Amino acid sequence: MNPVIAVVGAGFSGSMAALHLLAALPRSWSVLLCEKAGSFGRGLAYGTEAPAHLLNLRSPNVSAYPDRPDHFATWLGGLPEDERAGVAVTPAGTFAPRALYGRYLGELLTEAVVAEGTPRLHLVHDAIADLVPVAGGYAVRTEGGASYPVAGAVLAMGNLTGPGAPPSRHRLDPWRPEEFGRLHPDRPVLVVGTGLTMVDAVASLRGRGFSGRIVALSRRGLVPNVHAPTKPWPVPDLTAADLASLTRLTRRIRAEIAAAARAGRDWRDVIDALRPVIGYLWRSLPGLERSRFLRHLRPFWDVHRHRAAPPAATAIAREIAAGTLDVRAGRILAIADGPGEAVVTIRPRGGTTDETLTVQGIVDATGIGRIDETGDPLLRRLVVRGLARPDAFGLGLAAGDDYRLRAERPGRLWTMGPLLRGTLWECVAVPDIRSQAAEVAALIAAEVECLPAGRGHPPSE
Ligand SMILES: Cc1cc2nc3c(=O)[nH]c(=O)nc-3n(C[C@H](O)[C@H](O)[C@H](O)COP(=O)(O)OP(=O)(O)OC[C@H]3O[C@@H](n4cnc5c(N)ncnc54)[C@H](O)[C@@H]3O)c2cc1C
Repeated sequence: MNPVIAVVGAGFSGSMAALHLLAALPRSWSVLLCEKAGSFGRGLAYGTEAPAHLLNLRSPNVSAYPDRPDHFATWLGGLPEDERAGVAVTPAGTFAPRALYGRYLGELLTEAVVAEGTPRLHLVHDAIADLVPVAGGYAVRTEGGASYPVAGAVLAMGNLTGPGAPPSRHRLDPWRPEEFGRLHPDRPVLVVGTGLTMVDAVASLRGRGFSGRIVALSRRGLVPNVHAPTKPWPVPDLTAADLASLTRLTRRIRAEIAAAARAGRDWRDVIDALRPVIGYLWRSLPGLERSRFLRHLRPFWDVHRHRAAPPAATAIAREIAAGTLDVRAGRILAIADGPGEAVVTIRPRGGTTDETLTVQGIVDATGIGRIDETGDPLLRRLVVRGLARPDAFGLGLAAGDDYRLRAERPGRLWTMGPLLRGTLWECVAVPDIRSQAAEVAALIAAEVECLPAGRGHPPSE
């Protein structure tokens, strides 16, 4: 058997890592791509089948290959017209259904698996339960009891799942919309969270025939802004003093937005201009200022930076105007489960009087979890064994600029995608992930090329 790098998780991050590794590694090396869910390539974001779940990036921005920006658009254009029916062409750009994007990614992996010559991409359909250090690398242990010797591994396990919304027997998973089909068509439903997951959940509820009132609740009740046509704006010139204080940085960005408005431009131009430097801004801010950002500014940033595709935003705006979707700011104080319904006590933001809401289901759209809340057995074992540790904010894993895990016992373990959130902050959108994949693959290839002959070959246990 050839020397191997494992990739744990075959969502967008892991799939991109695998494809870039195949291109970058010496020909004698192969890639073991491991996925516990039903399909390879799709992950959480692109596993949806709902046509109303659109990519929130314009088609030219989501090519799998940064050096071939038309790759996805060309693939899309090659589909029969009826299969392209859900593609939304708007003045702000073309937005494809995420299901089609998942299909595109799946096809890229299939092409790599069946490529001519000695197979170099091996798929393992099982949950990885442990990575045990052994001579020359690691033993990748699956839940099903298999063990694969590898020289190193990329952890691409996606967003952490946390406890999310307060527990209730009537809790619904936004990623299992088939559960929505069992709801009574017109008794209220509560969605906890008002971000892009809420936007998806509302589309799924309506898509499954639910016609009742939806209440969406978050601390601030902020809903994602809509995409609009944008034009390039120069990256703002930021001084060291701007980067030393969150207050000052925020003021500086607001001033830039005001300058853009005076020039007849849109705030989105400025937010998009910041995108390539966000990792730098994040790392430049002192730790306390980053914590302040997470506590106070994050919801505002999220609704400006992570915008909804126009058809999705229009659907939400219509629901709000019609009163069928009630977006509230506040927090849940208590949930009393009863047969067939839950009575939820809410404290409205800034209010002193509590309200109660009787709902038949509570959709948990609270988004991402934290390392200390995760029940993921692999992450827990890696942390306990000193092979990984949480980043300073507990949002993911500590890693260096070279994507290598920072831990008591550093080794050939790298990470990318949402697990880098605390390290890079801006790391989950398609353009960020595909760049990370190319970079991590190049770094791994450079490292294994320097290994003395025989090292990196499959370790024996
Ligand atoms: C609903 C949703 C919509 C989004 N829409 C967009 C968008 O329109 N545009 C955009 O740019 N970004 C979007 N994003 C951002 C998104 O995070 C990234 O685009 C990307 O999909 C993240 O991929 P990932 O592979 O890191 O994570 P995931 O998609 O979560 O994939 C991780 C995979 O790892 C597997 N896994 C985890 N643990 C193990 C284990 N121990 N063993 C084996 N397998 C394991 C999981 O089963 C999963 O398939 C969206 C995100 C979500 C959640």
